Amino acid sequence: MSGASVKVAVRVRPFNSRETGKESKCIIQMQGNSTTILNPKNPKEPAKSFSFDYSYWSHTTPEDPTFASQCLVYNDIGKEMLQHAFEGYNVCIFAYGQTGAGKSYTMMGKQEEGQEGIIPLLCEDLFEKINDNNQEELSYSVEVSYMEIYCERVRDLLNPKNKGNLRVREHPLLGPYVEDLSKLAVTSYTDIADLMDAGNKARTVAATNMNETSSRSHAVFTIVFTQRKHDSETDLSTEKVSKISLVDLAGSERADSTGAKGTRLKEGANINKSLTTLGKVISALAEVDNCTSKSKKKKKSDFIPYRDSVLTWLLRENLGGNSRTAMVAALSPADINYDETLGTLRYADRAK
Ligand code: ADP
Repeated sequence: MSGASVKVAVRVRPFNSRETGKESKCIIQMQGNSTTILNPKNPKEPAKSFSFDYSYWSHTTPEDPTFASQCLVYNDIGKEMLQHAFEGYNVCIFAYGQTGAGKSYTMMGKQEEGQEGIIPLLCEDLFEKINDNNQEELSYSVEVSYMEIYCERVRDLLNPKNKGNLRVREHPLLGPYVEDLSKLAVTSYTDIADLMDAGNKARTVAATNMNETSSRSHAVFTIVFTQRKHDSETDLSTEKVSKISLVDLAGSERADSTGAKGTRLKEGANINKSLTTLGKVISALAEVDNCTSKSKKKKKSDFIPYRDSVLTWLLRENLGGNSRTAMVAALSPADINYDETLGTLRYADRAK
């Protein structure tokens, strides 16, 4: 699906200690780009198969030749998206899945050699490319912002002093934006890494203060990347601006499966609404895309419900139009998570 605008990957992680403790069985199999899930409650039921752009087997150890490392995931998905950003597209990579399935590991990873996720690897690569530039007429600037969306409200993770919720507004030309959100200029990978660290800490502190966990909010890290070309003959400059949004979504587990009541239930409903809306937006875009590539005629797209959630509204410029999107759906391998994992596979399947 090289021409299509949405790339979809799934990734299965190793067992965690809870799953090992319960002597869980692995119900996921992968071969090439296909992923199969077995129903542990009904072993006679035929396995369900799905095919994606990438099916990443990270269930075993690096010694396994089929093991998908952080580096492989970045090389397939992050590198391509970064290339699109250099071409002038807006790009968006997001991780979907139930809490504990591996979203943060895939997006952020750990600060250990070989364990860094898509965000740090992409930032590192971005500055490597910028520093490799030897064309005098080209110059670059990079600005980052980091926000959290919790219950349809936006918090600035790079300015934790700003404890209030920020207003979402619409610029007549540039589209939806968050008023007063810090946008910080950075000139090196270390600058970005420091900001990311501070932002992640602010996220945890805010979550603790509000008696919630960060798994119930969406974290959106945005890089605004500007390429300027100066023509010395005419003394005119042209600019290409790309927005790279890297999103660690809230856990997709259903509110009802945790017996939620009151605030938790409302929280769950909000999370589900933004994840459902995101799913609808992506499916609608994939549909338009498939139609375009098959019939070369642009089918009048059905209404795309960007406005139905703050998340999709703010990502509008990164999802539709002049943009490229990739999604990594994180999967638990364990039989005890069958329902959630099947839900995640179906969500990913609709995004294709
Ligand atoms: P989520 O963000 O979906 O809630 P995490 O990314 O925090 O989940 O993952 C939960 C745990 O599983 C973490 O301890 C993480 O390090 C580990 N983990 C997740 N994916 C992998 C993977 N592919 N390889 C090794 N460990 C992983």
